[in-house]
Amino acid sequence: QLERRRQGLVEPYEITLLRPDGSGVTCINSPAPIYDDDGTHVGSIGLWTDVSELKRANRELVAAERRAQEASRAKSEFLSTMSHELRTPLNAILGFAELLEADADDPLTAPQQERVRFITGAGRHLLALITDVLDLARIETGAIDLDLAAVAVGPVVAECVRLVDGIAARREIIVDVHDAGSTTVVADLVRLRQALLNLLSNAVKYNVVGGAVCVEVTSQAGGTVRISIDDTGPGIEPELAARIFEPSDRLGAERGEIEGTGIGLSITKQIVELMGGSIGLESEVGSGSRFWIDLPGA
Ligand code: ADP
Repeated sequence: QLERRRQGLVEPYEITLLRPDGSGVTCINSPAPIYDDDGTHVGSIGLWTDVSELKRANRELVAAERRAQEASRAKSEFLSTMSHELRTPLNAILGFAELLEADADDPLTAPQQERVRFITGAGRHLLALITDVLDLARIETGAIDLDLAAVAVGPVVAECVRLVDGIAARREIIVDVHDAGSTTVVADLVRLRQALLNLLSNAVKYNVVGGAVCVEVTSQAGGTVRISIDDTGPGIEPELAARIFEPSDRLGAERGEIEGTGIGLSITKQIVELMGGSIGLESEVGSGSRFWIDLPGA
């Protein structure tokens, strides 16, 4: 091997050389053989490149990346444990508040009822937040198992539409489905339902009274399937749209009446991406929004 190196007959290799003071220099040697006109091997050229600095920077980068990943995992694990711990006392608060509301033997006065309604309302909101934070933390730590299989889109869409029918009817919003036919995608059924339900309930929640929602399923070039959900809501400003998939950004909706946690869309984005798909939106202020999910066709 040494002889072959001397003759320049080997691939570039890494070697640590020692300086007289004992310190090491990591080099890459790129040897090349030299032949004379007859093709006889007469020697070799060795080009030695000092890569010590590059190696050191690389080691630091790897270490920094590992530290960042560990910090992120620790954060997600903390959130996940905290969410569990918070749920137990919260369920007690909700449970006892509901008992107060429902106690026929000892009925509450009207003002008391009003106050207890605040407790249950705030409690339910907190529970929704905790559930979403826990779900997001689970997704971020990779603690969810996806069961990817061929899923028929039509029945899932129909099921989600049925689930939002109630709030849609109360706000006189018509939800229309353009025939999904027999289109199938590769997805986890439960998580696909969760993603669609979030987009659909947003399309209803952030819509105008008497508005419309339209679900459309189309096969795209390249074998992907697009499920898009159009609404006739207020639309989303481009600068707000840019951060809409970030957790806990309600884009000002926190000041309004509509209930929400601001985490739904970031969960939706993560699960869609875990399933090998992508999510996006187009929106025009004043006329409505279209959210879409692209998934690999089955
Ligand atoms: P939530 O609805 O729980 O607040 P999301 O993550 O689902 O959380 O949505 C984040 C924010 O994006 C909402 O608070 C709302 O301001 C905005 N948004 C989502 N969907 C729509 C929509 N279809 N039309 C207008 N605004 C929307």
